[in-house]
Amino acid sequence: MRWFGENARILPWREEPSPYHVWVSEIMLQQTRVEAVKPYYARFMETLPDIGALASCPEDQLLKLWEGLGYYNRVRNMQKAALLVMEKYGGQLPVSYEELLALPGIGSYTAGAIASIAYGQAVPAVDGNVLRVISRVTENAEDISKQSVKKEIEEELKKEMPKDRPGIFNQALMELGALVCVPNGPPACEHCPLHRLCRACQNGHPADFPVKTGKKPRRVEERTCLVIRDGTHAAICRRPSKGLLAGLYELPNQEGHLTWEEALASAAAEGFSPLRVRPLPEAKHIFSHVEWQMTGYFVLVEDCGERMEASGMDGSGLLFLEPERIQREYPIPSAFAAYRRFLFAPLPEIDTDGSLLRGNKRNIWSAVLDRTVK
Ligand code: SF4
Repeated sequence: MRWFGENARILPWREEPSPYHVWVSEIMLQQTRVEAVKPYYARFMETLPDIGALASCPEDQLLKLWEGLGYYNRVRNMQKAALLVMEKYGGQLPVSYEELLALPGIGSYTAGAIASIAYGQAVPAVDGNVLRVISRVTENAEDISKQSVKKEIEEELKKEMPKDRPGIFNQALMELGALVCVPNGPPACEHCPLHRLCRACQNGHPADFPVKTGKKPRRVEERTCLVIRDGTHAAICRRPSKGLLAGLYELPNQEGHLTWEEALASAAAEGFSPLRVRPLPEAKHIFSHVEWQMTGYFVLVEDCGERMEASGMDGSGLLFLEPERIQREYPIPSAFAAYRRFLFAPLPEIDTDGSLLRGNKRNIWSAVLDRTVK
């Protein structure tokens, strides 16, 4: 704890650790680096400064605030929890660890972080950083991906933690795991305040801990994304309300790697009159269980005005809108980042025959122009 006092990073959510601030930051920090979270956190707090604002935020705006952070169910669950907190607890997150744990999207780690940091309760908050530190200190060779092992470590920590400053104790362990006893590369044992009592360090093999069983290999899926644009509009679709990236927006895409004739046919099937097609660079996106290996095409179509069609029962369907409006209002996850940028880039100059004219080499279209269509 003394080490933490001297070495803790200055982070925006630590300035005023209210229950809401701790909650939002901890949810954002799951699976996401601290540096990446900072601008999201600032924007989120500016737009939704309290639980009431979160509870009443329109879904598209909420997803837009989360755009790029991934794992969108995190923010959907936060809104569900916020609605419950408004209904049951008058807009204040409950103090009790058990009541926190009963809220959607709040697991033992987040409940422990809120209860200990914001409410000063002596409950542990065990995340991946803490599991790594403790399994090294105690030379615990059990598999940390097992819930039972996490539970045991929580129980042990509960006995050891000081009752007067539990929030500092939990944060100190997390910070040590983030800064010194790091996940990738060798731990900096020589700078670690625990090195005298750390068994793995004393026995010279910290890299053997923690023990994790191998994950199942990811399923690989091939997809083709289409950037469909006329002079003033670009096409996006709403994803179905269930499944991967549910309810978010995407570029028209389909399974498999399409030939350019198939890409043209696909745009025509959506009711467009294609003038020109160009292949776009390949891209990859990794989800926890699936990997998308993507290819794409830019399809220039005849001007046909704005379209807003909901064809699915759940409001899914194609939209053909001005790129500025898409950028402002419609959340498109980073799985499509490699192609999303072609929606917003000013169109390259187009010749009378519909071909693209070579422009500035640094322009993103230059990669497209350098590829030839057979
Ligand atoms: Fe980690 Fe080394 Fe510290 Fe042990 S001494 S907790 S292995 S950094």
